[in-house]
Amino acid sequence: MAKTLTIQDFFERFPSEDACLNHLMELRYGADFPCPKCGEIGKFRKLAKHPAYTCNCGHHVHPMKETIFESSHTPLVKWFYAIYLFTTTRHGVAAKELQRQLGVSYPTAFRMAHLIRAHMAGVDGDPPLGGSVEVDETFIGGKVRGQGQGPHQDKKTIVMGMVERRGDLITRIVPNVRRETLEPHIFDNVAPGSIINTDELHSYKRLHEAGYDHRSVNHAAKEYVRGNVHTNTIEGFWSILKRSIAGTHVHVSPKYLHRYLGEFEYRWNLRKSPLEMFERLVASF
Ligand SMILES: [Zn+2]
Repeated sequence: MAKTLTIQDFFERFPSEDACLNHLMELRYGADFPCPKCGEIGKFRKLAKHPAYTCNCGHHVHPMKETIFESSHTPLVKWFYAIYLFTTTRHGVAAKELQRQLGVSYPTAFRMAHLIRAHMAGVDGDPPLGGSVEVDETFIGGKVRGQGQGPHQDKKTIVMGMVERRGDLITRIVPNVRRETLEPHIFDNVAPGSIINTDELHSYKRLHEAGYDHRSVNHAAKEYVRGNVHTNTIEGFWSILKRSIAGTHVHVSPKYLHRYLGEFEYRWNLRKSPLEMFERLVASF
């Protein structure tokens, strides 16, 4: 199976409601599954007027049943295309853009975007990370409206990231960067004995006591790379994330940040197999 799905491939594979429904049918039941009623294999055909299949014996199967597609008035083709956009657009998709591309109302586009994001966020990187891992934190948001302090000032949200070089990435929103806050996330997600690369932050100074091979660069002293010691991978992720939030989404409220993080984490972790990203996401609904 090809690894990517170009926009042309996409429309060739999913030109109609029936094509999308057929894909859902195969995802959920497999290509030739035995009829639960008569046991015959491969006898299902699409019903003309309903989003369902019937066996020769008269048994019906509804591939959308108990998925979010079932209760949605938006056609499957539009859902599939929206999911496709989310998996192929490096910088994410704003609801405004979905509205324009799908020809749906803004509230519908907004709801679809949030549901897709929620499903992407449900898939974490696979712990434990191991080998050579980079750990870092960053501050997101915190636009100051008006002059200075007080209730008009948004607080910055702190995000912690752990990434295995050439492997998976895991993010967590944290209340502060104290050792007692950061260490448990590392213990939960990074295999003991791994190499952990960080900057000079004090909170990481005792990782060797927990059995990690801790190495650090001193960013304050303008040291960014020393041999294999650096945090360039995680910083690359922060930069994609921040540019996307600034460019595509203008402003992400702290309330929704975890969803955006989940979206970017998902795309990062499956970056080498965009087609699988699409398939897994469609199947997750
Ligand atoms: Zn049957």
